[in-house]
Amino acid sequence: MPDRSPAQHAQALPHANPDASSFLLRGGMVVDGSGAPPYRADVLVRGDRIAAIGAFEAPLDAQVIDATGFVITPGFIDSHTHDDGYLLAHPDMTPKVSQGITTVVTGNCGISLAPLSPRVIPQPLDLLGPPALFRFDTFAGWLAALRATPAATNVIPLVGHTTLRVECMADLERAANENETARMRELFEDAMQAGAFGMSTGTFYPPAAHATIEEIIAVGAPLREHGGVFATHLRDEADLIVDAMEEALTIGRALDALVVFSHHKLAGEKNHGRSQETLNLIEQAATRQPVCLDCHPYPATSTMLRLDRVRISRRTMITWSKGYPAATGRDFSDVMAELGLDDEAALKRLTPAGAIYFLMDERDVERIITHPLAMVGSDGLPFDPHPHPRQWGTFTQVLRKLVRETQVLTLEGAIHKMTGLAARNYGIAERGLLQAGHFADLVLLDPARVADNATFEAPIQVSTGIEQVWVNGQPVWDGKAGKSGLLPGRVLQRARPTSPDGHIRH
Ligand SMILES: [Zn+2]
Repeated sequence: MPDRSPAQHAQALPHANPDASSFLLRGGMVVDGSGAPPYRADVLVRGDRIAAIGAFEAPLDAQVIDATGFVITPGFIDSHTHDDGYLLAHPDMTPKVSQGITTVVTGNCGISLAPLSPRVIPQPLDLLGPPALFRFDTFAGWLAALRATPAATNVIPLVGHTTLRVECMADLERAANENETARMRELFEDAMQAGAFGMSTGTFYPPAAHATIEEIIAVGAPLREHGGVFATHLRDEADLIVDAMEEALTIGRALDALVVFSHHKLAGEKNHGRSQETLNLIEQAATRQPVCLDCHPYPATSTMLRLDRVRISRRTMITWSKGYPAATGRDFSDVMAELGLDDEAALKRLTPAGAIYFLMDERDVERIITHPLAMVGSDGLPFDPHPHPRQWGTFTQVLRKLVRETQVLTLEGAIHKMTGLAARNYGIAERGLLQAGHFADLVLLDPARVADNATFEAPIQVSTGIEQVWVNGQPVWDGKAGKSGLLPGRVLQRARPTSPDGHIRH
């Protein structure tokens, strides 16, 4: 591999923060997050920043860490999570930092923890955790709690349109009226002012299924002024996926917002192979408007238990069940046989419940995740007692399976999806790339050993080969010792949007 040292010698060493703690990663291969090939260099960290990258003597005050044989990358950005409540309840974020994730995007699929005043929490909002977590009637209040009691990872917060509906509408079985729409827009505007990065929708789910395109555009209007993303769990990911994608693209254009196709997939056997068609549609759209997607490498998805999903899946596993807790971790078909019930009756018995659905085609999954516009997002459900393994193994599975084993991605290509590409799409300044002056979110990994250990049968497992992880210059994970207990995560701030001519808007 080339030995390219962009910053030579001591003139690169900064003088700022002389008291800040320092460490030097010596002799590793740098994969910088831009997609550029690896190069050998030392990385010096002072305080919360990367001070210099190059080849130099260690300053006297710097701890030296031998990185020989290892790869140094920017911290991974999990582009799609449901960690809103988990950040507060389990701030060490072990499922995430143990696979190299240093930043999580929350509030996806239309469901965010805030703003929502205490109430009975309908499905699918309950996927975010127990009712006691829902105690923030303003988005600013939730962000303040995250700042007061930070987690180990940084946060890129989105506002869920379904959450706004549940907060503002007494009857969810229809489109919002004018007053309700105005109230939702007001809450969204407040959230954007407080620091949200955009809005997500989940019209696939009952509480938002009756929302019209007009309602979503009206509620999302603040995006036109603030910038930000429109992330969407489509109304349909099966037979009618193209119509659903066209709807999302129309909303994106109306709001002048980047469209993020969440967990892009083709559900059900009769739609297998159609990723060629949908990726083609995304590429066509990309010539007219900003668009990207997130996905994970597994051929199965997970959400609340629903018959329409069960019936297009080759296998369904129960992840939790209030009605029949003994079903947890077992196949739905076995549970049906045990109870002597048909699928409808079994669903009634188990519900509310969650499930894993094996309903995607491996070739679609591979075609989607290797697409240049695809970011990596775990979409994990952190409170499930028997979760989909993606919560613990998404990023390390990409590095093991797609980079090392099948080699459909290069290491630098995979890391770019996990870092630089996501930082650019979400508008994060000074992260996502290994550059002097950037924040020191870093991963030290062993490219020969890195692997996910979480499986569908035993999903709660830390990964192998993630040697060290730092967030804002502080160690949060050690491959041998585990979590450090430090909680240096921050609520990130959106870079001011720029117009195409490079000027900052308004
Ligand atoms: Zn979703």
